Amino acid sequence: MKKGKERADVVVVGAGIVGICAAVSLAEAGRKVVVVDRTGICEETSSGNAAALAFTDILPMAHKGMGRQVPKWLADPLGPLAIPPAYLPKLTPWLIRFVMAGRPGRYEASLTAQASMMKLAEREWNGLFDRSGSRAMLREYGSLELYESEAEFTASLPGWAARERFGVAFRHLDRDELADYQPGLSPAFVRGTFVPEWKNVADPMLLGKALWAYAETMGARFVHGRVAAVQPSLAGVAAMLEGGIKLEAGRAVVAAGAWSHFLARGLGDRIPLETERGYNTTLPSSAFDVRRQLVFPNHGFVITPLATGLRIGGAVELGGLDRPPNYARSRAMLEKAKRFLPGLEPAGGREWMGYRPSLPDSLPVIGRSRASGNVVYAFGHGHLGLTQAAATGRLVRDLLLNRPAAVPLVPFSPQRF
Ligand SMILES: Cc1cc2nc3c(=O)[nH]c(=O)nc-3n(C[C@H](O)[C@H](O)[C@H](O)COP(=O)(O)OP(=O)(O)OC[C@H]3O[C@@H](n4cnc5c(N)ncnc54)[C@H](O)[C@@H]3O)c2cc1C
Repeated sequence: MKKGKERADVVVVGAGIVGICAAVSLAEAGRKVVVVDRTGICEETSSGNAAALAFTDILPMAHKGMGRQVPKWLADPLGPLAIPPAYLPKLTPWLIRFVMAGRPGRYEASLTAQASMMKLAEREWNGLFDRSGSRAMLREYGSLELYESEAEFTASLPGWAARERFGVAFRHLDRDELADYQPGLSPAFVRGTFVPEWKNVADPMLLGKALWAYAETMGARFVHGRVAAVQPSLAGVAAMLEGGIKLEAGRAVVAAGAWSHFLARGLGDRIPLETERGYNTTLPSSAFDVRRQLVFPNHGFVITPLATGLRIGGAVELGGLDRPPNYARSRAMLEKAKRFLPGLEPAGGREWMGYRPSLPDSLPVIGRSRASGNVVYAFGHGHLGLTQAAATGRLVRDLLLNRPAAVPLVPFSPQRF
């Protein structure tokens, strides 16, 4: 294909899992799709995440009970939550919005919107696994949340009650039941919660590449390049690539993850997108026999058995896009994992950092740009981009093809801020 000459129906900026799923949905609808990315297919944040299809994870990040944890977390420089002091002035407006999002009315609205999105997410993944021939990558073993004290467990109960209102199934476990769900756990854990509907994928990068291969069978094409701007044009839209290449298309999707707000600004939308940087270490699979994803809510990390290794990580570092990674965070979680799973073999790990694209109300941005109805945004999925990617792909397709939306889109509007 000659770059700059061929006119696509839709140009998608960003080949993370969200852009890939948007491309798949549009290609399935018979549209000629070009995806542009500065790196490659599923090479950035979507490649190294914790692989959870966390359909039951409907609580907004700013939730009741969090205030109790935050001071303790911030006091530990390598703990679950970190804010580099030099970044605080830039972050403050986002933090204020984040705190406001935790107020009862707003919290409830976000919770309801997230619950409807998750129902769609589960349905859409289910269909997409079959259509793309990738069902073998789905793992349905549930998750196990673990608590080290009765007080921690009791503090989690309002969150479980909120989930229960939206039909999320779970089972609280006593200490003597934990070994049935995960042999070899430290005796420090006194309680657990098993969540049967929580799912995982075998490896998020391999899944992204498999879905892309499916999109290619329907004619989707990849262009390597960095998009400097997306602009309305006579033909519909133009993606202006660095180096002077111009990609003309009828419509565009901005799915550039944590970098999307730079492109949205040029289209008249100021979106308070921040990044929650997260870290992990992927050990060889032989490191420990982990039966299902283990979640340590009070330590802000998870352990995921993948087809390609054992991934240990999480944490939130509100440190922006430019600061170099601090892999001491990966190592701090690995140290804790050794305590939680005595017998874990910690050698041979690969460290990684990724940029969660996060809005203060924990909801993504899915909707049309201010400057042009031909440009649709699909970004800001925070901790849940893999989980909600297939649903987002469908919503993007329906917006661009003027079909009715499968869920109310007002809570996800780019203009809600
Ligand atoms: C440690 C960690 C664990 C996580 N665990 C989970 C999990 O278990 N389950 C879950 O659902 N989510 C999880 N997430 C979140 C999830 O990974 C993200 O929400 C998701 O990957 C975002 O996907 P995306 O496609 O929006 O962005 P990305 O994957 O970041 O893709 C955006 C793409 O846009 C490209 N791009 C950006 N700007 C430009 C430009 N100007 N021109 C061209 N290309 C551009 C980038 O190169 C990139 O490839 C986790 C995140 C982290 C960090």
